[in-house]
Amino acid sequence: MGFTPTETIWFNGALVPWADAKVHVLAHGLHYGTGVFEGMRCYLTSEGPAVFRLDAHLERFYQSAAVYELPIPYSLDQLAEATLALVRANKMENAYLRPIAFFDAGTLAVWTKECPVTVAIAGFPTTKYLANADQGVRVTISSIRKYPSNAIPASAKACGQYINSARAVQEAQRKGFDEAILLNQRGEVSEGSGENIFVVKNGAIVTNDASADILMGVTRDTMLQLAKDLGIRAEVRAVTVDDLMTADELFFSGTAVEVTPIREIDGHIVSGGKPGLVTQRIQQTFEAAVRGKRPEYRKWLSFARQAVSHV
Ligand code: PMP
Repeated sequence: MGFTPTETIWFNGALVPWADAKVHVLAHGLHYGTGVFEGMRCYLTSEGPAVFRLDAHLERFYQSAAVYELPIPYSLDQLAEATLALVRANKMENAYLRPIAFFDAGTLAVWTKECPVTVAIAGFPTTKYLANADQGVRVTISSIRKYPSNAIPASAKACGQYINSARAVQEAQRKGFDEAILLNQRGEVSEGSGENIFVVKNGAIVTNDASADILMGVTRDTMLQLAKDLGIRAEVRAVTVDDLMTADELFFSGTAVEVTPIREIDGHIVSGGKPGLVTQRIQQTFEAAVRGKRPEYRKWLSFARQAVSHV
């Protein structure tokens, strides 16, 4: 997902030109990964652009910040308004949005109390995150294990955590795969480098939860809600490598990948090498929901054109 610059970035309370949203090389977050972020999407609907599940993402943003004792000097409502203002200012239609808050330059000690906090929200037009997403992706089970939540809480979305994901996806791409699946320290399936995983077995969907050291994805939650409404049985429990190998279908969920079928794991063909029917049903419902075509899911959309007060 390369990015095409947009006109402005929301940076510490104001919209500034893209090229001016810079940080100092001694930013604490750069050295020690002491920052938190979100990934959200804006979709073009018949009523203009709308951010999908903005509140859920921003709630997780504040929860992640709380774990790292990072005080965000704006309220959730202010950041929600800032996000919509950014979408409007850049005339965004289908976009990926990236709020970030981190400890900025103040000390090179590991402690954070002397560091100011910087908050920014950037966005850019979306492109496909994973190659081959439409036909299904080819994945490998990584030799790199997921860090345990008793060291770094996986349910917080912190910058430094992604060195674990980056190594796993580097290894996967080096081996010619699209994406990695990480196992946790107990050898159970955890998640992809940037997405949650779903198994389809006998018409039901199965996914794991926080006890498997995953990020509790907003899209994962959306999947469970859509499955319920579609009358598809959903089971939340530990997922094993055996579950992957005996699955009828497999798919990833995540803001960047949306619903992406998995067609191969380490040479093992899943679902005949093509997207399965349950996956497609959920994928189509998700697509209709994010595009504002399903009234029951309008509650998940924040329309950018709505009048908002000045941030
Ligand atoms: N797991 C990880 C490690 C991720 O980075 C992401 C992307 N934020 C997800 C799962 C999916 O989360 P969400 O559906 O909220 O985007």
